[in-house]
Amino acid sequence: MKLVFATHNAGKLREVKELIGHKYEVIGLSELDDLEDIPENEPTLQGNALVKARTVWNKYGLACFSDDTGLEIDALNGAPGVYSARYAGSSKDPEQNMAKVLSELEGKENRSAQFRTAVALIIDGKEHVFEGIVRGKIAIEKSGYQGFGYDPIFIPEGYTESFAEMDNAKKNSMSHRGRAIAKLVEFLI
Ligand code: IMP
Repeated sequence: MKLVFATHNAGKLREVKELIGHKYEVIGLSELDDLEDIPENEPTLQGNALVKARTVWNKYGLACFSDDTGLEIDALNGAPGVYSARYAGSSKDPEQNMAKVLSELEGKENRSAQFRTAVALIIDGKEHVFEGIVRGKIAIEKSGYQGFGYDPIFIPEGYTESFAEMDNAKKNSMSHRGRAIAKLVEFLI
């Protein structure tokens, strides 16, 4: 069965294809030749995920899921949260986003944080939402080159290396998106 993942992010698509396995043919927006970015203007992760899934469902009538993720830092009252992508400005530059987070946490003892993902699925015209969380902390400095986004500065609980120092399989086994997608898969099969 064909399942659209409403994303243009090749890194995320690769991760999710590994998680969903062979039961579904997961395709991204680029494979639908849909080059427009779907706006993410809602005040919640769940709201943004639902808007993206509804857009694809209404346009193509294909079963579709989408995700929205936020990095929530305790000492910053949950920021950058739903604004994670454009935290340092509209260019959505991960290096600038990480630099902003590191400078805001300078001198702060509490570096606890979590990634939270909301996944919205529309199948047979019905909407479903799943959530995944991974707790961890923000590192003092960047390390590692794998993954994307804030991975070089996020160290998951129970580990000493950042997400960017882990291969996809290891990150997926504990990540926010991995956990949300596991709930999606459990629902689908
Ligand atoms: P989105 O909702 O997936 O577009 O992500 C929002 C922001 O969080 C973007 O800046 C992403 O780079 C970042 N982000 C999402 N997922 C991850 C992840 O697994 N690791 C690091 N950063 C992420």
